[in-house]
Amino acid sequence: MLDADFFRRWMLAAAASVDREAERLTALDSPIGDADHGTNLQRGFAAIREALEKEPPATPGAVLTQSGRLLISKVGGASGPLYGTLLRRTGKALGDAAEVSEEQLADALRAAVDAVRQLGGAAPGDKTMVDALVPAVDALGDSFAAARRAAEEGAVATTPLQARKGRASYLGERSIGHQDPGATSSALLIAALAETAE
Ligand code: ADP
Ligand code: MG
Ligand code: MG
Repeated sequence: MLDADFFRRWMLAAAASVDREAERLTALDSPIGDADHGTNLQRGFAAIREALEKEPPATPGAVLTQSGRLLISKVGGASGPLYGTLLRRTGKALGDAAEVSEEQLADALRAAVDAVRQLGGAAPGDKTMVDALVPAVDALGDSFAAARRAAEEGAVATTPLQARKGRASYLGERSIGHQDPGATSSALLIAALAETAE
């Protein structure tokens, strides 16, 4: 079973990973965006870390809803509301249980990814975070490690795609040949989950 401390450690691992990879995320957002993805996420996850260090919420659901709210208020841009929705919806689906099973988390994340798809209107193949998140939640039934691999493969597979959503879509065919920054950060988030579960 996964308790509030597991979710706290997941969010802190994600914050550390975003810090390590911020320059790369911003560099990926430079040719097909506005070169702010790394700094956007760094600002959001710094707020999450600060809140968790001050007073960690008592339940898995509360850790994720608080984190999602902070991403919505601090990150801005396209990715803030989308990642905020991902975490908030997952947290809401987990309710106020003190511990949740891996299966409950997988179900909650699947529903949250559907909410992200609805909010952003992106389908798989549109060269967005959805291209990493959908394969990840599809593989979650197998293991966290399988979800991590699927997310990383999904992120790499965005390179030859033409963007159909978000800023990169304004470039049309010129968006081809660049890995999507949001799919890359989604893979980091799932990798942090897999590391926390190890
Ligand atoms: P902004 O584009 O507002 O500067 P970010 O740079 O933080 O925001 O995030 C860009 C990422 O957000 C993209 O790489 C893409 O993965 C994701 N994204 C943008 N629009 C959408 C959308 N409609 N649906 C899903 N993901 C999206
Ligand atoms: Mg950007
Ligand atoms: Mg921006």
